[in-house]
Parts: sequence; structure tokens; C-alpha cells
Amino acid sequence: MKIQLLPSSFDESGKASRRQHLPCFVVDDTVAFDAGSLAMACTDKQRDSIRDVVLSHAHLDHIAGLPLFIDDLYSALTEPVVVHASADVIEVLERDIFNWSVYPKFSELENDFGPVMVYRSFDVGSAFSVKHLRVIPLAVNHRVPTAGFIISDGRSTLAMSGDTSAMDEFWPTVNETEHLTALFIECAFPNELEDLAEISHHLTPRSLAAELEKLEVDCPIHIINIKPAFRDTVIGQLGELNLKDLAILEVGKIYDL
Ligand SMILES: [Zn+2]
Repeated sequence: MKIQLLPSSFDESGKASRRQHLPCFVVDDTVAFDAGSLAMACTDKQRDSIRDVVLSHAHLDHIAGLPLFIDDLYSALTEPVVVHASADVIEVLERDIFNWSVYPKFSELENDFGPVMVYRSFDVGSAFSVKHLRVIPLAVNHRVPTAGFIISDGRSTLAMSGDTSAMDEFWPTVNETEHLTALFIECAFPNELEDLAEISHHLTPRSLAAELEKLEVDCPIHIINIKPAFRDTVIGQLGELNLKDLAILEVGKIYDL
């Protein structure tokens, strides 16, 4: 399984920077998990080949690139973009985003080939298939209904927390997963912003360390979704934890799991 966190910001020379504003993880150039920078940062090849988008939740940073992605492809689509999300998330998208006020209601529109966007709802805890992948959505602990995912291509298996604070339901399934290849887990805020992390249901290096105590499997751990303004501080504090197998997921790098 190849997975790439698409870039979402630029350095002084116009090249992709390491600051991650928007989560969008592309698996095997075909399935996007969250759509933060999907339209803005996918390659032409990915734009042609991604027709499935799996959403963890409806916060803006995770969905920002979805309306623009469908807009870009509108007349070229010969099959609809399939948005996989929980019923709660679909309700928010239809009410607050694809409502003609913020953006067109693509779920009601067709081009010459048929519908341009369809929803496929998933239930937390129930596995579903997307292209060649088997995905188990798991409840995590964020401010709004949010799913983490266990993603398998039959050869490698990735667990990804999405936005979350301390989790209960996620870990037992992760721990019973055979041959877990990697864990992607968030760490949004530095320790001194513990109060903000608590209100917004995110992790800090300290609370992340407590979470990782619940992980019973040895596998590489990659940190995602660090708030860009606190990136250096969070990375420094993560380093002080001296946790083995822990690294920051690099923006733009293609990981072969
Ligand atoms: Zn969020």
C-alpha cells in the first residue's frame, strides 16, 4: 500500500512546505482519506484516478478540497465521485456545504454521463470495501462524530486515528489487528495548550504518550495533523518523550507500507 499526505502550504520558493494545514491522505493513487487539499495538491494522475473519498469528519480542514475537486472534474466525470462518510457527516455536508449557498448541491446534479457525486454511508464498527481496500471505521473521540480507520489492502494494514483526544473504542480493534504495518496518530497541540486541546478534543505530546500506552503492538508510529503554528514546539516535545518507532509523517512523501 502506498500512502501520501498531500501538501497544503508553500515555502518562500513556492515549493510544498512541511506545515500541514489540511489532511488528505491518498492511498495507491485511487482513494483519498479526507479531502483537505485534495483539489489543490493532487497530481494530474491522481485527479484522473481518484473517484473515492473517505471522510473522517466534516471539519473544514478535512473537507475543504472536496467541493473544488468535484467542481474541477464536473464535465469530465464518466462515473460519480463516491463520498464515503457516516450519516452524521453526510447530513452536515448536505446542510452546510453543498447547499447552493456555500457551493452547488452536486448530489442533485448530473453531467452527460450521469451523477457527479454520490454518497455511500458507513456505520462505525462495520467494515466496508473501497476499490481494493478493506476499511474498518472506528469511533474516536473528537468534538464532533469522527471516525478513525483501519485500512488494509490484504498485504499491509494501517491504523489511522484522524482528529481525536483520548480513545477507548479505537485501541481494542487496533490491538487485535493481525500484522499492523503502521499507526498514524494525531498530535495537534503542544503540552502548554492542554486546555485548548481538551476543549477541542485533540492530543498533546503528553496525552499522546498516555494513548500509546494502550497500544500493545510493535509498529512504526507516524504523527499527523500537527497544527502548523505549533509544529516545531510539538516536534521538540515529542522528541523528549524518547518513544521508539515514532516519527513525524512527512508531507508529500510516498510511504510504501
Ligand atoms: Zn477536527
